[in-house]
Amino acid sequence: MAVLVTGGAGYIGSHAVAALKEQGEDIVVVDNLQQGHKEALLGGKLYVGDLRDPDFLDTVFQENAIDSIIHFAANSLVGESMTNPGKYYHNNVYGTLCLLEKMNEYGVKRIVFSSTAATYGEPENVPIDEYDRTLPTNAYGETKLAMEKMMKWFDTAHAIKFISLRYFNAAGAHQSGLIGEDHQPETHLIPIVLEAALGKRPHISVFGDDYDTEDGTCVRDYIHVSDLAEAHVLAVHRLREGAESAVYNLGNGQGFSVKQVIEIARAVTGREIPAAIEPRRAGDPAVLVASSDRARAELGWKPRFSKLEDMIESAWSWHSAHPNGYNDKSSS
Ligand code: UDP
Repeated sequence: MAVLVTGGAGYIGSHAVAALKEQGEDIVVVDNLQQGHKEALLGGKLYVGDLRDPDFLDTVFQENAIDSIIHFAANSLVGESMTNPGKYYHNNVYGTLCLLEKMNEYGVKRIVFSSTAATYGEPENVPIDEYDRTLPTNAYGETKLAMEKMMKWFDTAHAIKFISLRYFNAAGAHQSGLIGEDHQPETHLIPIVLEAALGKRPHISVFGDDYDTEDGTCVRDYIHVSDLAEAHVLAVHRLREGAESAVYNLGNGQGFSVKQVIEIARAVTGREIPAAIEPRRAGDPAVLVASSDRARAELGWKPRFSKLEDMIESAWSWHSAHPNGYNDKSSS
């Protein structure tokens, strides 16, 4: 029986494929390669196509004995979701609906879902736990929450069990040095800081220093991508054991401001990294920090790379060896 990984050629998906491979799982990957990279796949049988194409999904389900799904395929940029929400509803929400309908048609009963801290919006409590209010401040988070709710009703109606993993800020790269973060265009803080360290950008723009935080910049909870990957594998195991549907936060429980991230990156890289204060980015909550007690207790999850220095160090190894990401054949 195989695990189907949608979006498996993306940043977090490719690390999950690597983790599944280490466990000896059979892996099928579906990716439309709009953001993913074939080169990021360290295993699995790749089908290039879109979840919104029913004939394509029929082929995947008919050619493989799929027992569980890990669903990453989605657009995931907060800023873009604010200017083009339709794209997010179409790809994320409608794409997930197409997937769930095919799961129902083919009798696949388990799905692990790549969700986000953006489902909470501006938090009522810090750290945030899974019972806190969900009121997204951006369209990206709103679509992920809609996808979770859809899964709840497919569970009620069709007994499709889901585990939704709400991650905070993914960071770092695989220990092998073979895979890492490569988004085109890049919008995430740590890779952009490291591009500035490499001289690929003149500076890092700090989006707002007038938030209600200690140094005025936004605070996030960074979590190593390999620790996230591990949680997906544990969630598949848990569903196979017959667990009920559940939602889990994944984070380290420690917040770092944008300015602190830049300082740590300066120390790790030994580079200057110029920074410029710019206006706030639409849709950004001031502070997002997770309580992951539930994932630790119920999934038995324990982050292995919880120091931000280690995450930035592994990201730096990847970015300095692959300054042009997966296009950088000469260095791979
Ligand atoms: N950020 C920034 N400059 C950048 C990119 C991001 O100041 O060039 C800030 C952003 O406003 C947020 C934090 O860094 O407060 C993390 O942003 P990222 O896009 O990495 O992740 P998100 O929290 O949106 O998932």
